Amino acid sequence: MYGAECTTCGESSGATDGESLPAEVWALKHTDSHPAHRTFRAIITSFWRVSPAEGNPHRALEAS
Ligand SMILES: [Zn+2]
Repeated sequence: MYGAECTTCGESSGATDGESLPAEVWALKHTDSHPAHRTFRAIITSFWRVSPAEGNPHRALEAS
């Protein structure tokens, strides 16, 4: 997930799945509307999935 947040006013682009371009375009438009707002925090979120190994009692929950 990719997003951007203006470090001047805190406004956010929201998050998009799999590509950064929408957040980058949002930042350009944000600076166009607010010329003094020129720095952004890039927010990149990745997800992990943990699967219990064979023999782990929690593995049964995976099947249900
Ligand atoms: Zn701003």
